[in-house]
Amino acid sequence: MLLTVYSHPSCLQHDPGSDHPETPARLLAVLDRCRKDPGIALRQAAPAARDPLLAVHSEPYLRSLEAMSARGGGVLFLDTILNKHSWSAALGAAGSVLAAVDHAMSDRGHAFAAIRPPGHHALAARGMGFCLVNHVVVAARYAQGAGLRHVLIIDWDVHHGNGTQALVEADASVRYVSLHQHPWYPGTGAASERGVGNIFNVPRGPGKPPELYVGDLWAAIVTATTDWTPDLVLISAGFDAMAGDPLGGFTLEPAHYTDWTRRIRERLPAVPIVGLLEGGYVPSRVADGLAAHLQGLQ
Ligand SMILES: [Zn+2]
Repeated sequence: MLLTVYSHPSCLQHDPGSDHPETPARLLAVLDRCRKDPGIALRQAAPAARDPLLAVHSEPYLRSLEAMSARGGGVLFLDTILNKHSWSAALGAAGSVLAAVDHAMSDRGHAFAAIRPPGHHALAARGMGFCLVNHVVVAARYAQGAGLRHVLIIDWDVHHGNGTQALVEADASVRYVSLHQHPWYPGTGAASERGVGNIFNVPRGPGKPPELYVGDLWAAIVTATTDWTPDLVLISAGFDAMAGDPLGGFTLEPAHYTDWTRRIRERLPAVPIVGLLEGGYVPSRVADGLAAHLQGLQ
C-alpha cells in the first residue's frame, strides 16, 4: 500500500530570510525525495480553517500573525520571522497535518505531513523558535474533537518542544515523550518536568553514541505506554538530531528513525501514526532521515 504524504505549496513560500537556517530548501529536498519514491503518494491538502487553530491558540495571537503577514512580514520574536506568505503557510501546514490525521483516523493507513514552518516551540499566544502554530497540538485536539480519547505525542527533534509541553501538561488525555539535547535551546525539558504525570522528558547531552539516544527514547515510550494505550500516535519528526546538524549535537543516522518507527508500530499495532516535519537544518539529511522514517511506516 502506498504511504500518503500531505503538503501544501504555501509551505514553500514562507521565508524568514536568506541567512536563516529554516529555509524553503529543507522542504524542497523532502518533497523531491517523496516524488522519487514509488511507495509514496504525495497529496496536496486544503488549507486549515481558523477553528482548529483556535482550540490551541488565542484569537488575538492568530490575528497578529495574519496582520503581520498582510503588512509584508516582520520579526515576530527574536529569530521567528514572517514574510507576506507566512500566515498562508501556517494554514497550509495545519491543513496538511489535519488531512494526515483524517487519513489515519479513517483506516487508510499511517500518514505524514511534510510542512514548514515547524510548530513545537509555539505557545498559546506566542510564536518562537521558528514556530508560529503548534501543529502537533492542533492535530491532537482535532483528533479528540473527532472522538479519539488518548493521544501520544512523540518528539524526537533535538530541541525540547516547550510549546507542546506547555499546551498539554495539565491534560492527562495527552502524553508527551520528548528526547532532546539538554541544556540547549529552549532551556526547558528537564526530567523533573512531569506535568500531571503525562510528560516524559529524556534530556541528554551531545556527542553520545546513537544507541544511547535510541534506547533512552524507546525506554520512555515503553514507560508512557505501559497501562495506557493511545488512540493515535503523533510524531513531531524533526531531523536535527542527526549527526552534522548545525543546530544540534546528537549523532543519529537515518536507520535509527526506521528502527524507532518500526518499534512503535510493533508495540502499538492497532494505533494509527501521523508524523509531521519539525526541525532539521541540512536539507539533504532531512530528506534522508524522513525517507527512513517513512520506510518504517510503509
Ligand atoms: Zn529542532
